[in-house]
Amino acid sequence: MGWSKRGNGRSYNSLNGYATIIAFLSGKILDYADRIRKCMHCEKGRKVDDHDCRKNFNGSAKAMEADAGAALMNENKVLKETNLAARVLIGDHDSSTIAAFSVYINPTRIIDVQASVHTGLKNIRGDLYLRGNKILSIPLKDALQSFRQFLNLSSKPCLLVAHNENFDKSHLLRAILKCSLVESFNIIAGFSDSLPLFKNHFGSNKTPGEHKLSTLAVKHLNVKLDDQFHEALYDVKILEQLVSLTNEDHLFESSKSYNACLTHITKLNITASTMQHLSPLKGIISDRILEKMASVGIKYEDLLRIYQTK
Ligand SMILES: [Zn+2]
Repeated sequence: MGWSKRGNGRSYNSLNGYATIIAFLSGKILDYADRIRKCMHCEKGRKVDDHDCRKNFNGSAKAMEADAGAALMNENKVLKETNLAARVLIGDHDSSTIAAFSVYINPTRIIDVQASVHTGLKNIRGDLYLRGNKILSIPLKDALQSFRQFLNLSSKPCLLVAHNENFDKSHLLRAILKCSLVESFNIIAGFSDSLPLFKNHFGSNKTPGEHKLSTLAVKHLNVKLDDQFHEALYDVKILEQLVSLTNEDHLFESSKSYNACLTHITKLNITASTMQHLSPLKGIISDRILEKMASVGIKYEDLLRIYQTK
């Protein structure tokens, strides 16, 4: 979005704004829109229908961007004709439209029944469905590249925060490793978990599930429990609001670096693949000991060879 008058700091009072949408891959302009707040003729007291009135907006200069952005995404002819739904909106650094990032990734496996109940997502013959409606999804690598673009909008390194982060973090890191994009994501400074932060801040009365995102949100944010929970974008917005109630410094103090997390995941991957070589011992030796053996690379064949050469 561009404004006729430059805004500085927190002051934006331009009377006109112009917005375009540019396709991510082709770099071509797909559509444009303007937002005009003042008309010379209307100011002089003339009626709207007796002149070529261009005034089409009543909000603030800053609100123009979100308004034009939403209109360009929702009413664009090219997107409609090709039946494309835009899932990723990339704005510039000072934009108020960059609040969120969300894409769906092509499903590669059947989503189990319990997960479907939680998320509303189903894989039907390779297409992704959300609560019965087919939704647009993209390949994993494209999704990661869009996510990196989104992170790059920040001029500073990013700390990624998730609730009970181990699950989300290991999925993201495995995807980054799988797509060979380790270096591209150096903008991630580290990861932090909001679970210990919330336990510390909101306290505990030892009831089961009291630190679940939905429970905390109902209690502290005055939101209603409905089926929007587990929709990633909604969960993230709730998480952001809950974190803002706490002392965010703890998130930085308890964070783990990107490189340390990658090293940990790589070790786990090696352990998992070595475990396959220990399968004849499953049920004979405890899983814990098997994991220990796998983590230092001991295989069943090694044990056999050493036994036989003695
Ligand atoms: Zn007018």
